[in-house]
Amino acid sequence: MQQGNIGVTTENIFPVIKKFLYSDHEIFLRELVSNAVDASQKLRALASFGEFTGELGKLDVRVTVDKEAGTLTVSDRGIGMTSEDVDKYINQIAFSGAEDFLNKYKDTAATIIGHFGLGFYSAFMVADKVVIETLSYKDGAEAVRWECDGSPVYSMGKGSRTERGTDIILYIDKDSAEFLDQKRVDILLRKYCRFLPVPVIAGKEQEWKDGKWVDTDRDLVINSTEPQWMKKPSELTDEDYLKFYRELYPGNEDPLFWIHLNVDYPFHLTGILYFPKIRNNFDINKNRIQLYCNQVFVTDSVEGVVPEFMQLMQGVIDSPDIPLNVSRSYLQSDTAVKKISSYITKKVASRLDELFRADRADFEKKWDDIRLFIVYGMLTDEKFCEAALKFTLLKDTEGHYYTLDEYKTLVEAAQTDKDGKIVYLYATDATAQYQYIKSATDRGYNVLLLDGQLDNHFVSLLEQKLDNTTLVRVDSDVIDNLIRRADRAAANLTPTQSAILTHLFEIPAKKVEKCTFLVQFEALSPEVEPVVLTQNEFMRRMKEMTAMNPGMNIYGDLPDNYNLVVNTENQLVKSISAKAMEAIGPKVDDELKVVDEGNTRLEEIGKKKELTDDDKKARTDTEAEVAEARKRIGDAVAEYAATAPEASQIVDLALLANGLLRGADLSTFIARSYSLMK
Ligand code: ADP
Repeated sequence: MQQGNIGVTTENIFPVIKKFLYSDHEIFLRELVSNAVDASQKLRALASFGEFTGELGKLDVRVTVDKEAGTLTVSDRGIGMTSEDVDKYINQIAFSGAEDFLNKYKDTAATIIGHFGLGFYSAFMVADKVVIETLSYKDGAEAVRWECDGSPVYSMGKGSRTERGTDIILYIDKDSAEFLDQKRVDILLRKYCRFLPVPVIAGKEQEWKDGKWVDTDRDLVINSTEPQWMKKPSELTDEDYLKFYRELYPGNEDPLFWIHLNVDYPFHLTGILYFPKIRNNFDINKNRIQLYCNQVFVTDSVEGVVPEFMQLMQGVIDSPDIPLNVSRSYLQSDTAVKKISSYITKKVASRLDELFRADRADFEKKWDDIRLFIVYGMLTDEKFCEAALKFTLLKDTEGHYYTLDEYKTLVEAAQTDKDGKIVYLYATDATAQYQYIKSATDRGYNVLLLDGQLDNHFVSLLEQKLDNTTLVRVDSDVIDNLIRRADRAAANLTPTQSAILTHLFEIPAKKVEKCTFLVQFEALSPEVEPVVLTQNEFMRRMKEMTAMNPGMNIYGDLPDNYNLVVNTENQLVKSISAKAMEAIGPKVDDELKVVDEGNTRLEEIGKKKELTDDDKKARTDTEAEVAEARKRIGDAVAEYAATAPEASQIVDLALLANGLLRGADLSTFIARSYSLMK
């Protein structure tokens, strides 16, 4: 029996192993099963070179749990080890590997993924004793037993194995009893070993008999050894891809598209990515892309490896070239990873382009579902954006789809304004903005529907990418002004009319909370409504953008600003104006004269270089006079307004059309409507 000290300087690294990788204890199973699979594949390789001429037999890996003995055993029929091998690989190399690893990451333990690098010794995260029973494939080899109880002292001697291969026997420590539970072990095996290339067997298949589950004599194989992504795309049918998807994400709706990744140079990468039907945010977090390394599951958090927007996709990426035992920030700056990421981007873009070209009708059908993904990609990845401009579709409020070029051709003639700019109209809510959409389409304009979560960003992006084009929401101005064909016709009002109408229309709008209204007069077409509410495109966008960034919400708390546009050519406005002029015109006229005279006097005083005390007094008095006259105008209009409900009724209708009339104000409106019908 050989005894010795394991080749490390650290007094006792096992407590360190346990401590550092505490959260990731379960990966010991992946490490041991991977070693067993490697040993099996090595033997298969040796056989194919003719260096092993014995019988291969079944190369299954078995994981067995013995609750009574308190052991978990991983057995293989691979190459096995001679005592020299154990000395070299276990006593020297593996140990120093573990030590290196710990030295390197001691300080950053929290940021390590902790996936790979610890290998065999990760067994000590869950066991207080580990035994290796092994017999090498080599002719005349003798069985070896190696044992270590977690101190740096091991013992090695004659083993009991009579068949080629290795058993790794873990005496599970009392804190890790969960790993003696067959169900827990099965779950872990399914997580990490589901697609390993050698069958992994965990107990027996069960069947329902006499009211309970009992073991059959069939082995329970937990993995499929030839996952679809390892095959050639030409060998696979659509049904194969769908089947694989259902296997990966049982219960999900079928995906829309998929992409088979397959590259050998300058890095190795295979995989299949799916575009899922995203129903809600929950789906996004639940079913993520899985990252494998030579068919061993590593993680399902792929940040850094695939571009951010692609994390909405699902499926599998397998690459031995992604460094896994490093921190995320390192990963993002790694050149191999950068190349991988840009390769995937390119591949996804060209696949979408291909699908678009191959079957436009089908692409349109799926567009609404993949739109979020594509827009997200365009906004966050310049290269993807350039590629995507070719197959980006715009959908109008009638449900027709256009490419960017097609859309330009469609609207260019009708929607170019007097300065030669093409104006794209859009709506963000087909129901709420119905009235505005209708006036636009009645005019022969086309209105796009941009009601997606990211569309306010998308609008700006389109303006950047399209030459000489602006996007304007349908309710941002009155129809005549949305696309200005000629200079505005000035509203033809006398100062008295203007003063009266401003107050008259402002009064009923004032009741709406958290909104301000600026009364404007426009000589629009007579058939346009008497009052239209519009919201300045620029201000609205600023508000929306900042509302999405809670940290810098400077506009978010400001009131909503509306323009209350009064159409002076509308017959109702004309008659309201005429009636008001008759009732209070002369009085307001007189007061306006006071205001005008006062203002003239103030102007004169303002021109003087030096003011006498008399001047100063005159100024104060005149200012007060003007203010009082203005107040009297306001009062006169308010008093009149109480007897003339038409202006209130018109403003309320405009508020109602914009969802701004609520509660008590709505009741008042309803009551007034009835009384007007009498
Ligand atoms: P790694 O697998 O990264 O090389 P490990 O610490 O897991 O590191 O293993 C060290 C070495 O021990 C392996 O490279 C292999 O040569 C040997 N080894 C481990 N497990 C087995 C096994 N089941 N059969 C044969 N050799 C093994």
